[in-house]
Amino acid sequence: MIQVIIKRAEHIGFCSGVDRAIALSEDVLKKTQPLYVTGDLVHNAVVMDDLSKKGLKAIDLPDLPENSTVMIQAHGASPELMQELRIRGNELVDGTCPIVKKSFDICQKCSQSSYQLIVLGQSKHPEMMALKGIVKDALILNDLDDLKRNINENHRLNQTNIALCAQTTKPLKEFSEFSAYLTTQLKQFQHLIVYNTICDATIHREVEIKSLASHNDCVIVVGGVKSSNTRKLYDIAKARNINSHLVHSLSDLEEIKRNIFQSETCVIASGTSTPMTQVEAVENYITSEM
Ligand code: SF4
Repeated sequence: MIQVIIKRAEHIGFCSGVDRAIALSEDVLKKTQPLYVTGDLVHNAVVMDDLSKKGLKAIDLPDLPENSTVMIQAHGASPELMQELRIRGNELVDGTCPIVKKSFDICQKCSQSSYQLIVLGQSKHPEMMALKGIVKDALILNDLDDLKRNINENHRLNQTNIALCAQTTKPLKEFSEFSAYLTTQLKQFQHLIVYNTICDATIHREVEIKSLASHNDCVIVVGGVKSSNTRKLYDIAKARNINSHLVHSLSDLEEIKRNIFQSETCVIASGTSTPMTQVEAVENYITSEM
């Protein structure tokens, strides 16, 4: 008989922001049907399927009917999008995570105090697209290479004070390296203010996965295909433990069965938009195959 000790990460399942957005939408759905959302409310297909059965409709903006009720994603939305929705007569339910909102406020204050705002983030991520609408001249840079290129090509960066923030789900290590490099590039008269706007919920998971990946034989990170923090946890785990796997659905487990069952200990972790039902389904699958 195969014996694998299954361990669960301490910080697992929904974070407070995702939990809030889902609870809010479920609450509205009890009274108002249908409820629309432009894009994913959260980046997890299991959650989206479940909400769609309850009446949530994910729809592209051009197809959105007028005078309907629309939920704003946990990642937030730009003022332009909110305005357009209101002009169409839609009623808005704001599911923006309070921590994302706080980060937007910090970014806005930085730019109002005439600092050039640089944000370490993925420019196509909904949180960054919303921020771009709030702080029009925010410079959103994907990584250190992007920063280096901009320092060489964008002369404004050599002439102004700079404020640095981060997308709430960026890895802390990447932000520290980015910030340290930027410090070395400052001219004598330039000031740099650094605000760490990375969410604690993701930092706790990051710290935990480093230790778990180093002290266990196998790591499974459960989460949605589009979830950037799930991908980040997987990347951190993989850098420390080659036997780390990203699992989007139970069918992914088939391919890695051997890796799991050749291990003495297997850790299960998750992104912040992964429901506990999905984590439990993975655990049940493994134990049922032992
Ligand atoms: S990860 Fe943090 S910022 Fe993002 S939704 Fe969750 S609590 Fe909010």
